[in-house]
Amino acid sequence: MKTVVMKFGGSSVADVQKVQNVARRVVEKKKAKNHVVVVVSAPGDMTDDLIEKAHQLCESPSEREMDMLLSTGEQVSIALLSMAIHHLKAGAVSLTGPQAGIYADHNHTRAKITKILPDKIQEELRKGNVVIVAGFQGINPNQDIATLGRGGSDLTAVALAAALKADACEIYTDVSGVYTTDPRIVPEARKLDKISYDEMLEMAGAGSQVMQARSIEVAKKYGVELQVRSTFLKEEGTWIIEEVKGMEDVIVSSIAFDKNQSKLTVLGVEDRPGIAARIFGELAEAHINVDMIIQSAAQDRTNDISFTIARTDLKKALSILKEVGKELKSQGISCEEKVAKVSIVGVGMKSHAGVAAKMFKTLSDEKINIEMISTSEIKVACVVKEFECQQAVKALHKAFELHKK
Ligand code: ADP
Ligand code: ASP
Ligand code: MG
Repeated sequence: MKTVVMKFGGSSVADVQKVQNVARRVVEKKKAKNHVVVVVSAPGDMTDDLIEKAHQLCESPSEREMDMLLSTGEQVSIALLSMAIHHLKAGAVSLTGPQAGIYADHNHTRAKITKILPDKIQEELRKGNVVIVAGFQGINPNQDIATLGRGGSDLTAVALAAALKADACEIYTDVSGVYTTDPRIVPEARKLDKISYDEMLEMAGAGSQVMQARSIEVAKKYGVELQVRSTFLKEEGTWIIEEVKGMEDVIVSSIAFDKNQSKLTVLGVEDRPGIAARIFGELAEAHINVDMIIQSAAQDRTNDISFTIARTDLKKALSILKEVGKELKSQGISCEEKVAKVSIVGVGMKSHAGVAAKMFKTLSDEKINIEMISTSEIKVACVVKEFECQQAVKALHKAFELHKK
């Protein structure tokens, strides 16, 4: 018998009818003589709603209590799905992350999985049950519940597939696979048949929400092949796999964007060792991820240091920078709240020149100003004003002819 991990995202279990639809798909898979492990997310926008509620009570809630709160969303889904499967006269049992043997580290709200002991899952599978596991959660060394970062149910699914040596890991969502860009923004976007782990990782890091970045790291590390596919349609999805011959023929495979970005500049700090270490050390201590960094050429022995962060961290970052800025005798802090990062991604860039230049020319033809640039071997990313993001994505999708196969 094969073991299959099926993961259903929040939009797939947003209401009772959708839960019933998922139950039918799961039972079908079970009837095809598979051991089935299902991972589910919280219904619809429940996680966002819970975060909002917590912030209405308190500006910076305790991270332990935040995890206690957020983990409840996934528990709603596992229980409802289990009931819906029982209604179809099939055996199913719901397990929280801790019950499923998912162990996590101390970092509340962004914990890493440290190990999985899947004995209980295996025992339930042997009894003939479908096992439904709450995504996005584990138990930490203090015996407290810990969550795995936003989008963390993808990570639960991939890690379970690796631990169980599953034959398949299927990620079911509200689109039919991974597209050349977000199909909600560009209707001409085309579904990809396959994409490499490295490309998907860059896309996820560049803001494409379809898969959580860490889940792709784990999939690559353990060689878990993933299929992203539709919860509602039967068509074949997109395979996320190791790079294979021929993938490099495509220079740019997708456009990703992240509208949740802000740009900060520390103005006029001394041009001497230790300044950047101090600024970014303080931000790191507050768990603020810094993305692009640019240091201007020194003038009069002072520098401006600009960088981007997630907009959700802006308030916290500004209060830290005000303090550090004073100590470092900076000439001030400037902030551009609403910027976006637009990225082109493709393994083919490794062996082709002129890709970045084409991106810059496309944006220039659209009269879109590029505020920052960063590159990797398979990605070029530009920061632009948020209101120009959609125009930039559409123009790049057209310029690189991503609608054509
Ligand atoms: P789930 O709730 O199933 O985890 P998500 O909302 O996290 O689903 O991810 C699916 C969404 O990702 C899609 O609805 C789509 O709008 C968005 N998305 C962004 N970029 C892409 C892309 N390149 N291909 C497919 N979907 C994308
Ligand atoms: N419910 C969590 C979130 O919204 C985890 C997930 O959906 O993967 O981030
Ligand atoms: Mg998701």
